[in-house]
Amino acid sequence: MTDTKITLTESEMPTTWYNLIADLAEPPPPPLHPGTHEPIGPDDLAPLFPMALIGQEVSTERYIDIPGEVLDVYRLWRPSPLYRARRLEAALETPARIYYKYEGVSPAGSHKPNTAVPQAYYNAAEGVRKLTTETGAGQWGSALAFAAGQFGLDCEVWQVRASWDQKPYRRVMMEVWGAEVHPSPSDLTEAGRKILSEDPDSPGSLGIAISEAVEAALADESTKYSLGSVLNHVLMHQTIIGEEALLQLAKVGDTPDLLIGCTGGGSNFGGLSFPFLRERLAGKNDVIIRCVEPAACPSLTKGEYRYDFGDTIGMTPLIKMHTLGHDFVPDPIHAGGLRYHGMSSLVSHLYEMGLLEAEAIDQTECFDAAITFARSEGIIPAPEPTHALASTIREAARCRETGEEKVILTAMCGHGHFDLASYETYLAGELVDYDHPDAKIAEAMERVPVVG
Ligand SMILES: *Cc1c(COP(=O)(O)O)cnc(C)c1O
Repeated sequence: MTDTKITLTESEMPTTWYNLIADLAEPPPPPLHPGTHEPIGPDDLAPLFPMALIGQEVSTERYIDIPGEVLDVYRLWRPSPLYRARRLEAALETPARIYYKYEGVSPAGSHKPNTAVPQAYYNAAEGVRKLTTETGAGQWGSALAFAAGQFGLDCEVWQVRASWDQKPYRRVMMEVWGAEVHPSPSDLTEAGRKILSEDPDSPGSLGIAISEAVEAALADESTKYSLGSVLNHVLMHQTIIGEEALLQLAKVGDTPDLLIGCTGGGSNFGGLSFPFLRERLAGKNDVIIRCVEPAACPSLTKGEYRYDFGDTIGMTPLIKMHTLGHDFVPDPIHAGGLRYHGMSSLVSHLYEMGLLEAEAIDQTECFDAAITFARSEGIIPAPEPTHALASTIREAARCRETGEEKVILTAMCGHGHFDLASYETYLAGELVDYDHPDAKIAEAMERVPVVG
């Protein structure tokens, strides 16, 4: 069997990121100031982000050069491999041709270093000394800890208490790369102390951890804050994934009929799909692009498209997006990276324009898919991309019925080596499904601010 692993040489690696906004008739609606409801400007963001990233956030340039220093770090693991999933195809007895782009080869084991590295680079270039961030299970925190170290920056991470207690190894990874990690809520910030005074045993939440990391960045001039998903510049940094995949598929002469990615905040999905969407908008392919989300956290398929806060506490600008309500606390599904109440403004906008489709899948079906994948292709996927896998397997089964030789490209955005406790639960037959009832969404919507 040839063309199992389709690689690019280092010199074939793309040297620009793609900014999809340049090709849209209408950009996504702007973020609004939470007090005045007026569009926010660069000055509102300057205390938190370096000017280079603020510029990228609002850029309408089609291509942005990747700095040489960033390319040098990318070369530690990029170009990443594209696999033809021949063993999975055989196991499913499907005539479909399945490809997956694998980002688990990065030092942190996911796609997140693709944006952590440029974020650290631009901060260091503007004289910033320290980055703060939040992390849930630790995927983003470990990516930023690695990237900060590459550019001599200090890194301080607030990790949600519940995962700090249950998942110590991601914390150890962050510490190995030199980061300082605190359980959140902590007594180091006003926000943390307030929560602890009300509930000394608080398990924390991503929303609380964001508040702590933002507060710490605002308190010090040489410290800035870093976000691992959702924002336009984050999705743009991830487009290196799709640009590589386009070149790799060209090498084997294939074009996807269907592209599938999991969506938490939309960054790995946008990273793979936006370059293919560019080609579709230019009439060069007919690819159908599908987002897959957990049934327990269905922001695109069940959320409302309206302005809402990005965090739980209501400190961030108001963002127009598909939301389940900013104070929605998702059930404890194992795909921690997909437990976010909203969706990136850009992915939400594309969905409203009818350029994407979306479906929601229960976690037991996702872990079924993960086992099939691990036992055929070998790689043990992170719980998040198993959502894309489950949808891929549904589609491959349809092709088995119809005989269609559909070409499917799926985003395998990380490995699951730190998620084996989830697999243990699954193998013991103890994994449960959660639905997100409409009544709960309606109730959370009552607390979403009314704009305009
Ligand atoms: C963080 C994470 C996600 C969710 O974030 P997106 O921005 O939607 O990509 C998905 N998969 C993995 C492996 C992650 O680390």
